[in-house]
Amino acid sequence: MLAVEDLHVRYGAINALNGISLHVDEGEIVGLIGVNGAGKSTTLGSVAGIVRPWRGAIRFRDVSLLGQPPEAIVRRGIALVPEGRRIFPGLTVEENLRLGAAVRKDRAEIQRDMERWCAFFPILGERLRRPAGTLSGGQQQMLAIARALMARPALMMLDEPSLGLSPKLVDDVFALIGELRDLGTTILLVEQNVEKTLALVDRAYLLNAGRVEFAGPPRTLREHADIESAYLGRH
Ligand code: ATP
Repeated sequence: MLAVEDLHVRYGAINALNGISLHVDEGEIVGLIGVNGAGKSTTLGSVAGIVRPWRGAIRFRDVSLLGQPPEAIVRRGIALVPEGRRIFPGLTVEENLRLGAAVRKDRAEIQRDMERWCAFFPILGERLRRPAGTLSGGQQQMLAIARALMARPALMMLDEPSLGLSPKLVDDVFALIGELRDLGTTILLVEQNVEKTLALVDRAYLLNAGRVEFAGPPRTLREHADIESAYLGRH
């Protein structure tokens, strides 16, 4: 479904990605793990068209995404839930959700999806007319995820969705990601929570210094000796 090949990204003098290759197949949950600065967010940003790689290829369903603007990439069926939630705090919950559907024109279906996701996330349904900034951190994360779902993505990319949430909400977010996969959404997940990620994903990539250090199913990743040191390296 998604194929990234030999991706290189520079920010000025910093080489953020030094030849990342990865793929995500239809129906999978794939994890990207690694220490801060390993290049996880930059990889998602490149796929979403927010970051411009200087070398490499990104193909989604056999169409090249390189050089396409972010809206065109959303229209092709890829949505990003960025790190730090980035909802619009001054807009209402409903306005935030409708923005997620800005690339769609099927009004009746948009309304159906509003109702669907408000039933799925009852707290959002109850607060549709409130400014999104009045929601708690966990509720804002749900809103960020629901907003991305309003685009009806075939591939959803989530950047550290559990960051800053209480342990109970972290469990809720991980359970939700599993449910979304069961509903047919393919998922590329960036996470710091290595244990919970490996418990959920079909495969994972361990990034280090802008390269893929190890890739495979959770069992082999756990066995990979360096994962512990890479993980502990964060602290
Ligand atoms: P984090 O968990 O901190 O988000 P990450 O694995 O997602 O880490 P990236 O955010 O992709 O890593 O960062 C990769 C490298 O690029 C790091 O060295 C980082 O400091 C640098 N970098 C990221 N964004 C920028 C930017 N906008 N300008 C300059 N350097 C950047």
